[in-house]
Amino acid sequence: MRHRNREHNGTHPKGVKYNVHLTSSAPACERKKEIIMATLLDIAPPTLNVPTTPFKNEPLTDFSQAENARKMKEALTKVRAELGREYDMVIGEKLIKTTEKIKTVNPAKPQEIVGVFQSAGREHVEPAIQSATQAFESWKRTTVEQRASLLHTVAGILRERKFEFSAWMVFEVGKNWAEADADVAETIDFAEFYAREALRLAQASTPIQLPGEGDRLMYIPLGVAAVIPPWNFPCAIMAGMTMAAIVTGNTVVLKPSHDSPAIAAKFFEVLQEAGMPDGVVNFCPGSGSSFGAGLVEHPLTRFIAFTGSKEVGLDINQRAAKPQPGQKWIKRTILEMGGKDSIIVDADANLDAAVEGVAQAAFGFQGQKCSACSRAIVDEKIYDVFLERLKDRVSKITVGDPTENKPMGPVVSDKAMKSILNYIEIGKKEGRLIHGGGPAKDLGDGYFIQPTVIADIAPTARIAQEEIFGPVLAVIKSRNYDDALAIANNTEFGLTGAVYSTSREKLERARTDFHVGNLYFNRKCTGAMVGAHPFGGFNMSGTDSKAGGPDYLLLFTQAKSVAEKIGDAGPIADTMTTRGEESR
Ligand code: NAD
Repeated sequence: MRHRNREHNGTHPKGVKYNVHLTSSAPACERKKEIIMATLLDIAPPTLNVPTTPFKNEPLTDFSQAENARKMKEALTKVRAELGREYDMVIGEKLIKTTEKIKTVNPAKPQEIVGVFQSAGREHVEPAIQSATQAFESWKRTTVEQRASLLHTVAGILRERKFEFSAWMVFEVGKNWAEADADVAETIDFAEFYAREALRLAQASTPIQLPGEGDRLMYIPLGVAAVIPPWNFPCAIMAGMTMAAIVTGNTVVLKPSHDSPAIAAKFFEVLQEAGMPDGVVNFCPGSGSSFGAGLVEHPLTRFIAFTGSKEVGLDINQRAAKPQPGQKWIKRTILEMGGKDSIIVDADANLDAAVEGVAQAAFGFQGQKCSACSRAIVDEKIYDVFLERLKDRVSKITVGDPTENKPMGPVVSDKAMKSILNYIEIGKKEGRLIHGGGPAKDLGDGYFIQPTVIADIAPTARIAQEEIFGPVLAVIKSRNYDDALAIANNTEFGLTGAVYSTSREKLERARTDFHVGNLYFNRKCTGAMVGAHPFGGFNMSGTDSKAGGPDYLLLFTQAKSVAEKIGDAGPIADTMTTRGEESR
């Protein structure tokens, strides 16, 4: 890349920041030096690390291979040695310590402290937003190639540190190895995908070029983003929203979840290593209700990228809608929220596949996915045999310490455990307990819950309607396929769903009538892949932002249309004048 800019800041692929100043008003002797320097730069410029190949999903790690299992154990040992470390809050170039701290614990062994973090309060909102506002002035002027290069570099670093990143999630939120690995792979996918998407968006053109004009459409950044992620995909969602914001030229105040700041701190380090300038992302762990709400309300916050519960999402929506003194824009909100996701098992389904899909989608990562199957809607003709086989399958799931890669680990916190156990008690009254039904025994004081299946649940029962966010499956009997579809659509949510059926006609009906953002046929309703399954929900599941899809980055930009008369810059031709007056 040749440096035509007078000042050019960017990123070397190996993470070295470069900063080139070419000042043409310098004295003659200095000019000579500059020319030499410019020539040198022309010979060996700090090449940008822009992706040039088409996007491909990051392969998942096969832990049945001894070498991969060895690497994972090594990473767990390395991370274990780092547990309990204290991390700074980072606003611009300032490292900040607060009196109040956030301590995260290993949910499998709550006496083990994963990390100690600063706790941003209301008083940190102003400096954090000011830092991001200041950084925006230069970051918005970087080229899309520079920003795409940053993400591509981040992806490369993450690939090298994949096992280590997975290990942090095993300790901090209790993911088993495969679940943690999938989270890192999705993070790499977001980095690679959004880098390419930003480059594509920069090539946008208007569908029509008026004769005698150069008509251009540019997607420009919005400004300062408050990025507020949940704890359950503590790497992928946190990093995905952050990278979408910065690759489009915005700057960010990142407030990771109270339950998972360690992995966010590690990701922030990667951004720095990749050459991100100070202030482009500000790392501020803190409480949602004080710091988070303060960010949402601040007049200089231009938009909020949030993923989390329905309750908090709706609260953010309301707060963001109220203009504050001095605010110049309508804040944009990108809100991805909860789910109550159903799998329909039709009478003609392949039963083995359906049982496997339901078990995996209900109990993968302890049911703590927004996409988790929490309702199996099963045709009465196969209901009993399905339940029998499901019980058999679920009884084979072992619960235990995720560092030992047991299939089902703990739920994230004491608070989550209490809430889930409470729902299990409600469920026992609403239906018939088939499996599980309480804490998993003999596993110390970790937050372990048995995979729980409760059958004969009415479609309107509480455990059929409210998001539990834990390993609890409600099984609902349907009279026929019409009934099954009606039940599937009877919640306030609309995130994911699946249908197991061998009938083309039934699948096609679901395609139009099953009202969810992500629908799957003859496969589980979890495990969305970047690019293939743009992700986002309908109704109270959110604003359907479709992360990992071709429309996502549009939400982080605003379109500017610029028309230039070509040739003679004199008066506009008559026909154009007329047309201009007729429309806006
Ligand atoms: P949560 O709503 O409790 O918290 C999410 C984030 O919001 C956290 O960072 C939290 O600190 C912050 N927060 C809390 N109160 C706030 C306030 N008043 N103002 C601003 N920020 C505030 O959710 P969680 O427990 O972290 O995550 C689980 C939820 O996330 C589930 O409901 C799950 O379905 C949902 N989720 C949805 C998706 C999706 O793509 N739709 C993906 C993952 C998780």
